[in-house]
Amino acid sequence: MANVVVVGAQWGDEGKGKIVDWLSERADVIARFQGGHNAGHTLVIGGKVFKLSLLPSGIVREGKLAVIGNGVVLDPWSLFSEIDKLAGQGVAISTDNLMIAENTPLILPLHQDLDKLREEAAGASKIGTTGRGIGPAYEDKVGRRTIRVADLGDEETLDARLDRLLAHHDALRQGLGAEPIDRADLKSKLLEIAPKLLPYAQPVWKIMADARKAGKRILFEGAQGSLLDIDFGTYPYVTSSTTMSGMAASGTGMGPSAIGFVLGIVKAYTTRVGEGPFPTELHDGDGQRLGERGHEFGTVTGRKRRCGWFDAVLVRQTCAISGVNGIALTKLDVLDGFETLKICVGYEIDGVKYDYLPTAAALQAKVTPIYEEMEGWQESTQGARSWADLPAAAIKYVRRVEELIQCPVALLSTSPERDDTILVTDPFAD
Ligand code: IMP
Repeated sequence: MANVVVVGAQWGDEGKGKIVDWLSERADVIARFQGGHNAGHTLVIGGKVFKLSLLPSGIVREGKLAVIGNGVVLDPWSLFSEIDKLAGQGVAISTDNLMIAENTPLILPLHQDLDKLREEAAGASKIGTTGRGIGPAYEDKVGRRTIRVADLGDEETLDARLDRLLAHHDALRQGLGAEPIDRADLKSKLLEIAPKLLPYAQPVWKIMADARKAGKRILFEGAQGSLLDIDFGTYPYVTSSTTMSGMAASGTGMGPSAIGFVLGIVKAYTTRVGEGPFPTELHDGDGQRLGERGHEFGTVTGRKRRCGWFDAVLVRQTCAISGVNGIALTKLDVLDGFETLKICVGYEIDGVKYDYLPTAAALQAKVTPIYEEMEGWQESTQGARSWADLPAAAIKYVRRVEELIQCPVALLSTSPERDDTILVTDPFAD
């Protein structure tokens, strides 16, 4: 049985929510394996809009098991406010359809404080984070001083963890001119939320192993995008987790052999939120038009997204690193009506041609994109459900994208509505 991993192949916001929802109808288990509530996945089902940050997208469907894996960093207060919001929209969430790995590290208010304090202190060199405390929470995980879900079950353990964690944070806060943490207040907040959170805590690795043995279909839902990966992204302007497909295994407690099909989500143009290099960024009317037509505002922070032409160099690179078997191409309709379209096919840096983005920041800063021009189309592609509905120039654009990124289109999404999708290859097929 093929299990499917979905990853964003650009800087996030590729339209993963819709594709994950589309696939989750066919899956039994839907698991998040990295990131936290910095994600923003929008689902439109029957005209109803659901906005998810931390919960796996499959949660809105009945009869599915949603799993939050150990690779995630979890803000318990944010989790329950998301659960309450969804309950208001008629989605029932209980221990029957949601499980959280007991070894998941927590995001605490002190992580959000630190995220903001650091960004303020950095001034112009800030990263432009979502302010959700993601980076500081991952730091504490690898620093071996974090509080994990299971630690909430025993007051003595919690005390020991708090001592270690606060010794570190109080020293940091002093350096940044902030007040020390109110330990008693934090501990009482944790003890208050513990009885709500602990019933969801499970040995997720075991549940995943059992699901696999039983032949259940597992969908691994990646968040953010490959170019925000801590190792392979545009460092340091990245998020603090591994956003590549390999993380699906270790972020839920499975071996890499559990991963079947890797689906990369690719937007027909490029966007990015926050700071950092963006070779094909447009500062002209074309960029503005992409942003307006594509409604390019962040789901989590409401920030305006930076927009630019499709960068085939970067997508070829991320598809190779994640071992992408096929892509879901989204938002093609945003390109409707352009006279001419540009695709970046290579870079030039100091007179030298590159077919990949070099790691050195000094080189990245000097990248000049090499463009290929393509004829646009005037017809609408919105809502197309078969190739026959697409103008010839649009098909030519899609075929050129496939050729340049060396990866085939498995799905083509032509509107936020879930049924407006052209299926070429079924990622769940054996
Ligand atoms: P952090 O993940 O909040 O630390 O933010 C680090 C970088 O990742 C910033 O540039 C954010 O804008 C970006 N980022 C984080 N989550 C998302 C997402 O879900 N979509 C797009 N960009 C994101």
